Amino acid sequence: MHIKKQRLLTPGPTPLYPKALHAMMDADLHHRTQDFRDLYTRVLTDLKEVLGTSHDVLVLVASGTGAMDASVSNCFSPGDRVIVCTAGKFGERWVEIAKAYGLNAVVLEAPYGQAVSPEAVEQALAANPDTKGVFVQASETSTGVAHDVRAMGEAVKKTGAIFVVDAITGIGTMPLDIDGWGIDICIGGSQKAFMIPPGLAFMAISPKAWAFMDTAKLPRYYFSLKKERKMAAGGESAWTPNTALMLALAEALKYIKQLTMAKLVDNAQQLAYATRVACGALGLELFAPDSPGASVTSVKAPKGMDSGVIVKEFKSRFGSIIANGQGSMKGQIFRIAHLGYFDYPDLFAMVAELELILHANGVPVEFGKGVAAVQRLYAERAIAKKETVNA
Ligand SMILES: *Cc1c(COP(=O)(O)O)cnc(C)c1O
Repeated sequence: MHIKKQRLLTPGPTPLYPKALHAMMDADLHHRTQDFRDLYTRVLTDLKEVLGTSHDVLVLVASGTGAMDASVSNCFSPGDRVIVCTAGKFGERWVEIAKAYGLNAVVLEAPYGQAVSPEAVEQALAANPDTKGVFVQASETSTGVAHDVRAMGEAVKKTGAIFVVDAITGIGTMPLDIDGWGIDICIGGSQKAFMIPPGLAFMAISPKAWAFMDTAKLPRYYFSLKKERKMAAGGESAWTPNTALMLALAEALKYIKQLTMAKLVDNAQQLAYATRVACGALGLELFAPDSPGASVTSVKAPKGMDSGVIVKEFKSRFGSIIANGQGSMKGQIFRIAHLGYFDYPDLFAMVAELELILHANGVPVEFGKGVAAVQRLYAERAIAKKETVNA
């Protein structure tokens, strides 16, 4: 067909909330003025409310990895013992950061498609009583797996270690009680469930983590969390902030507040559940059937088919950008995102496109079978006015 609308349907960057996108045009703003201080203060207050925490919340001008880096460089000293959970490409990033900073890492690894168990964390803590930190992804975006952050937090809470959670795709896709579950550093990123472009990272930091910063000796400069906290108290950021993204974030937070975080989470969970049911109806196998999260659903390509063909045809036939597998999963799986500004019509279209692509590649498909599965769930849940779904 001739007209193809571009649709960004990946698990980061995610589709943009239009009002946030439009707000970016007001960026001819100086960051050492009262106008900016008002904006920044409002953003920090709203972010804290949306995250549901009493901890200090900071914004860094960086992609999510910047906040991962900052959590290590600000809280630890060379040679510190840490436990790193890894279940995919983002867990491997924790391992690499810990190594780059000379930490002494005990690595708990789960095969791709599976989760690290809270029991493994508990055992590793018992075997390494000198542990200073435990690192994990709430949602491992490369495989679609969700971790049991609550149970892990309970285990870490009883020790002297801090619990550092990359919740970059966990926020907005699963319940997260930052204060109650003992999450000492909770990390978020702008281009995920916050529905705005990449470039800002968020950190909620507990008093326990702040205390670590008094003795931490690793070198740092740009990402100085103490400096950011001091400046934020006066409504400013340490360095020149990304004013355009801050304007976007203010709009997105207004929307999320009005929607409520619980409903944002439920939205992703409903879409994830419907996607799993649709894949089952089409005879497609899930990559992470045992601990599926709601940020993204990883689906195995049919036998003998490269998932890259599916990804490529989403783009070439329909203008839809979906995600391939990363690393060794490339060519094996494709990923359907649910976090942030996604709705049922997005999913109707994605599943219909998928059916057509499979058909075009000789995979037997009964047209409408996957779409009907999603429609049926919509009818049951939304038309019957059942507000929540346990996905
Ligand atoms: C997107 C993402 C990140 C951050 O990646 P950046 O490219 O630095 O924004 C980190 N962890 C997870 C789980 C992610 O999904």
